[in-house]
Amino acid sequence: MSYIDIVPIGEVDEALLLFLRESIPQIFKIQSRIRNFRFDVSRVYDPARNQYNSSGLLLQLISDPSPETSKILGVTELDLFIPIFTFLFGEAQLNGLGALVSTHRLHNQFYGIPEDKNLLQNRLLKEGIHELGHAFGLIHCFTVKCVMKSSTYVEEIDQKSINFCRVCQQKINHS
Ligand SMILES: [Zn+2]
Ligand SMILES: [Zn+2]
Repeated sequence: MSYIDIVPIGEVDEALLLFLRESIPQIFKIQSRIRNFRFDVSRVYDPARNQYNSSGLLLQLISDPSPETSKILGVTELDLFIPIFTFLFGEAQLNGLGALVSTHRLHNQFYGIPEDKNLLQNRLLKEGIHELGHAFGLIHCFTVKCVMKSSTYVEEIDQKSINFCRVCQQKINHS
C-alpha cells in the first residue's frame, strides 16, 4: 500500500486536513493519510520579511519519508516565500517526493473580505492538487480550467477547476 502523506506544518485546522485526506484519493486514486512530523520552522523564518522560506520547509518535509510514502503534501498556515517571489501559495519538487501548500493567502480574511470556509477548502484543495501534480511530474498548463494552470492571485485559483484537463490527466495516469 502506498500513500499520499498529508503533513501539517505548525498549527493547521484539523477540519482542513481531514477534508484533504478525503478528497485527494478521489483525484489521484492513491490512499491518503495524515502524518505528523516535528518541524523547526524557526530555521526558515526570515525576520526582515516576516515570512518562511518555502524551499527550506520542503527540505524538512522530505527528510523522513516512510517506506509506504508515495508523495508528501505539507500544509501550513505560515506565509511562504522564496527569494525571487514576494509570496507563494505553494511549492513542489518536479517529479520529486515533496509538495507544500500554504493557506495563509487563501483566506478571504487576508484580503479584508468575510471568511468563507467552503471557498477556503476549495482553494486549498486546488492548490494541493496543483503542487502534487508537479510532484507527479506535471508542468504548468495553459488550459483555462485545468488545475495545473499557474495562479498568481486567488481570483485565478477561483477560475480554475479541481480537475486536470484531458492531456494532464493522461500524464498523471501514466506516472
Ligand atoms: Zn505550479
Ligand atoms: Zn492541463
